[in-house]
Amino acid sequence: MTQNYIEHLNIEQFQKDLIDWYYIVKRDLPWRINRDPYRILVSEIMLQQTQVVTVIPYYERFMKLFPTTKELAEADEQTLLKAWEGLGYYSRARNLQESAKMIEAMGGFPTTHEEILKLKGVGPYTAGAVSSIAFGIPAPAVDGNVFRVMSRVCCIFEDIAKPKTRKVFESVVTDVISHEDPSAFNQGLMELGATICTPKSPKCLECPVQKHCQAFKQGIDDLLPVKTKANAQVKTKLVVAIVENQYGEYLVNKRPDKGLLANFYEFMSFEYDGTLEPAEFLLEKLSPVCKNVESIQAIGTFNHVFSHRIWEMESYSVKVTTDITLSDEVAENSGLWISSTSLHEYPLVAAHHKILSEYDKL
Ligand code: SF4
Repeated sequence: MTQNYIEHLNIEQFQKDLIDWYYIVKRDLPWRINRDPYRILVSEIMLQQTQVVTVIPYYERFMKLFPTTKELAEADEQTLLKAWEGLGYYSRARNLQESAKMIEAMGGFPTTHEEILKLKGVGPYTAGAVSSIAFGIPAPAVDGNVFRVMSRVCCIFEDIAKPKTRKVFESVVTDVISHEDPSAFNQGLMELGATICTPKSPKCLECPVQKHCQAFKQGIDDLLPVKTKANAQVKTKLVVAIVENQYGEYLVNKRPDKGLLANFYEFMSFEYDGTLEPAEFLLEKLSPVCKNVESIQAIGTFNHVFSHRIWEMESYSVKVTTDITLSDEVAENSGLWISSTSLHEYPLVAAHHKILSEYDKL
């Protein structure tokens, strides 16, 4: 299948040009200080969807808290979610902990590509990255950068939005990967995609593999990779209230233990049905909990974008006087009053951080 795509390639020269360049530009990053597979796994999970510069402080804090799989496996959920707060995609943190438990139960980190692929939340890309970087296994690690570089180098017009296309690229990379240094080869491809072969205006004149690149030769780099548009995101309208009582305490809710942002804390939030004005709607919803509303003030409208949905949040500051007895309805939802000074100890949904920082300016 890959024969047609790579027949123009001088594979050995391509490997050499890529790897030599990688060793010149390679950055000193905290997960590159050794080949500890656990450290590499954590970095790869954090780097999915997040830039290197953003990840570094999170990574260093996480590794201080959980230096080995043992500490991570034993961590309580609140500490784990708090350490991950701000990176988003919290299921990844939970999966990472599940993997740590699996590794502890196995008596050590698995050393084959097949076994690494069985860890919780580890897909083909991550398994390939960990296998090649930590163990020198020549396994493909195809991420968005690799899709882009290889589609251009080999003129592959397959639609990368289709799941089956991954197999085509994995097959191509398997045929061209260096067996002497698969780690540098894979990281070189990723680095090239991140810094030179960028989505718009690739820096072809600085590219170390330019002489191998079919798209450059034909002047069609802007047509690749082919990617059809994903389905539109689902929009949910919410009305959110920062409810504060006379003691400077906030009313927060713990989200259910399953589904989106499971077990995270949030300010009072209600799906808006449009039947009343948002402020009236909010007061009606709050009435079982907050009997004595002193004032209500709009904070603003905020959007929070997840991978497949958008929260459109109309937010309000609501001041109440209360005798701190919660109604049964809120008690069932684990609602609780917490002081403003201890709020930072709770993993709060990122979408509400934006509202809180505007609220603090009121
Ligand atoms: Fe990408 Fe240009 Fe290099 Fe081809 S020559 S791999 S299009 S940067």
